[in-house]
Amino acid sequence: MTLTPVLTDKLAEPRLAVAGGFINGKWSSVSSRGKVFRVSNPATGEVLAQIPDLATHATREAIDAAHAAQPGWAALSAKERADLLKKLNRLMVEHADDLATILTLEMGKPFKEARGEILYGASFIEWFAEEARRVYGDTIPGHTANTRITVIKQPVGVVGVITPWNFPNAMLARKLAPALAAGCTVVAKPASETPLSALAIARLMEWAGFPPGVFNVVPGTDAAAIGEELCANPKVRKISFTGSTNVGRVLMRQCADGIKRMSMELGGNAPFIVFDDADLEAAVDGAIASKFRNAGQTCVCANRVYVQAGIHDAFVARLKEKMAQLKVGNGMEEGVDIGPLITGKAVDKVEDLLADAREQGASIEMGGAPTGEMTFYPPTLLTGATRTMRLAREEIFGPVAPVFKFETAQEVIELANATEFGLAAYFFAKDISRVTRVAEALQYGIVGINTGLISTEVAPFGGVKQSGFGREGSKYGIEDYLDIKYLCLAVDEV
Ligand code: ADP
Repeated sequence: MTLTPVLTDKLAEPRLAVAGGFINGKWSSVSSRGKVFRVSNPATGEVLAQIPDLATHATREAIDAAHAAQPGWAALSAKERADLLKKLNRLMVEHADDLATILTLEMGKPFKEARGEILYGASFIEWFAEEARRVYGDTIPGHTANTRITVIKQPVGVVGVITPWNFPNAMLARKLAPALAAGCTVVAKPASETPLSALAIARLMEWAGFPPGVFNVVPGTDAAAIGEELCANPKVRKISFTGSTNVGRVLMRQCADGIKRMSMELGGNAPFIVFDDADLEAAVDGAIASKFRNAGQTCVCANRVYVQAGIHDAFVARLKEKMAQLKVGNGMEEGVDIGPLITGKAVDKVEDLLADAREQGASIEMGGAPTGEMTFYPPTLLTGATRTMRLAREEIFGPVAPVFKFETAQEVIELANATEFGLAAYFFAKDISRVTRVAEALQYGIVGINTGLISTEVAPFGGVKQSGFGREGSKYGIEDYLDIKYLCLAVDEV
């Protein structure tokens, strides 16, 4: 296990960088197979760390540790669990700069966005520390004069958590916090592109004093092997996954035998609709925020921009002006808005989608070709997009905004819903009837109305259709980690 100065020299607290698995409160520096993998900076190609490449054996060990720790963790009072989570929240905020540096170095997003992500992740830890103490049950009038019915909620048990590279801190924090608050223990498998952010959280949890085994991290490149063990092992009672719909399907199949509970936060294909009566400036700002955050690599990024005919040309002109101000570069540099795409494969995908759109008659108004340096891709604007283009159906996951022109509300609602996905949708309009009707008609779990920013710990984040099920954040989020039990008590006369 090695950490390079490219990483450690940039940290005020270098111990936040760790290159090992975290199992049962201990750092494991070797894999049983003797293999390691490299984590590198997508902006420069520099190697940041070499990490033991853990797989089935380590996953099993971590599950055993989580299973052994779970009854003791659940037996603590809610306040005791909440106090530890609050400590973790404080440590995350205190070390936000270092955590953001680790995040930017391993995944590329601009430092200011990375810092925002750390505080966003920390806000879930704080929120669920508060919710830990509000896991209320119910009493129900009995069905006969001599019965009393009480409903209690109990932790699901050991939870396997699988997270993606695009929000290496927040996607984990959103699962970890409600799980621990509820009294579950966790085995986490971070994406192999970005394990350092997850390991930094483990380091903070070690410092905060969480008992061994309550949180475990298994970094590794054999995602299928780790995933299979998490899904097949009967000691794991639930899988919480954020990632692609395809992998989500695989995990569901694997969980079928054990009838395991699941939460799934999968792909999206967000429509971003601008009606004629929209506030133009607000709509353009919303589009910039929703489309270009994280270089377009989020599951709630605007994927299809629908603009009504009357405002179309003005919107496109203003969007182009604002897009021209976005600076592409190394996320550690001041003033950068768009970092590199995560891999060369991601660039190829964007290129394929653009080639298809061009062939089908879309016009490239701006950008449209890689910068040629590493995996940087410039902000790209297309007009004349149509529903038969691949980018109307697939997640672009890059800084490409395709604009579709539409005429009527009915038409755009039909277009917006014509996808198997249903995570986030956005629209800009002022007419109150239009706002109400369109919001109700969009088949999505999240609808941003006159805003491009919808993520907060206080609201339930999650999708419908093939974007998944379960909710993260809000009072609903903790329910995903609780089982309902009802107690039916027969009472005699006294
Ligand atoms: P993305 O397109 O965001 O990389 P993926 O679904 O491929 O989405 O990855 C999300 C997470 O799922 C990552 O941690 C990845 O390693 C993991 N993963 C990928 N394939 C599998 C699999 N077969 N079983 C379990 N986890 C997997």
